[in-house]
Amino acid sequence: MHVNVREITEALEEKTLSPYAVLSKNTQGRAEPLVSCDIRTAFQRDRDRIIHAKSFRRLMHKTQVFLAPEGDHYRTRLTHTLEVSQIARTIARALRLNEDLTEAIALGHDLGHTPFGHSGEAVLDEICVGGFRHYEQSLRVVEVLEGGRGLNLTWEVRDGIVNHAGKNEAKTLEGQIIKLADRIAYINHDIDDAVRGGVIGPEEISLECRRTLGETHSERIHTMIFDVIEHSMNQSKVAMSPEIHEAMMELRSFMFKNVYTSPVAKAEEEKAKGIVKTLFDTFLHHPEKLREAGLSELTFSGEREVCDYIAGMTDNYAIYVFRELFMPQGWQMKR
Ligand code: MG
Repeated sequence: MHVNVREITEALEEKTLSPYAVLSKNTQGRAEPLVSCDIRTAFQRDRDRIIHAKSFRRLMHKTQVFLAPEGDHYRTRLTHTLEVSQIARTIARALRLNEDLTEAIALGHDLGHTPFGHSGEAVLDEICVGGFRHYEQSLRVVEVLEGGRGLNLTWEVRDGIVNHAGKNEAKTLEGQIIKLADRIAYINHDIDDAVRGGVIGPEEISLECRRTLGETHSERIHTMIFDVIEHSMNQSKVAMSPEIHEAMMELRSFMFKNVYTSPVAKAEEEKAKGIVKTLFDTFLHHPEKLREAGLSELTFSGEREVCDYIAGMTDNYAIYVFRELFMPQGWQMKR
């Protein structure tokens, strides 16, 4: 007997999801059409393609806020991504939107992030013609760069990825969830990491914020998620209530002032920017130095390719290449 699990799942979606959800059978499809899978829906397949991608594994060694952190418990870009996915799926399921689509967008949203977090992004934005924005780079990773040909994902996942930040709105509600889930995740876990790192004390968060959102990490996440669900139930748009949104944005400003742009963070940021800038110049104008330093030889066709290469690096790899290129090596005993 031939069982088609995908068809069963698609029928279930049709029966149980909200009229605002994207049904996987109604996807606008891929740049290169694929024969459909007997097990997975189109969006489940996209999620799997992302999880198996090398750029996904590299998120493990990319900075969230704290550069190349040595403590075991600081977030990385990978654990951030997993927290976004968990928050987004909770919201999607509650609103009866397509959880698989939501998950795929969440897992892919930061694939284009540079080494050294926003410091790396800021410096590439300064030096690349046309600028550099991580959300556009995430799209570039899944459309062009990964494996040399991209991942051939569905239109809905690509739309959600490129619109998770910046001015534009995702066209699907599943995509709109990611923009909020990303914020909910990073504001809260960055507070947690900043307290862990002794950069701020939990009591420095304003009384007003704590009253509105809660005293603890989990209370605040719960408040925000619950608010999104309550405010978006049976609506054609995913949003927070003005009151909670305002409190969240106040927390965000607090984080900018006390953590993201604090003197401690700034000092490290300058070093990280220096590394990225130096690598960029070297790759573009003196690629022969890579060979001289015993690194694999690379040739770049121009700025864009250098930018792609650097954006794909992990913190650790960028530091390693910089060290090989510019730090004196100790004498090696040869016998
Ligand atoms: Mg993110």
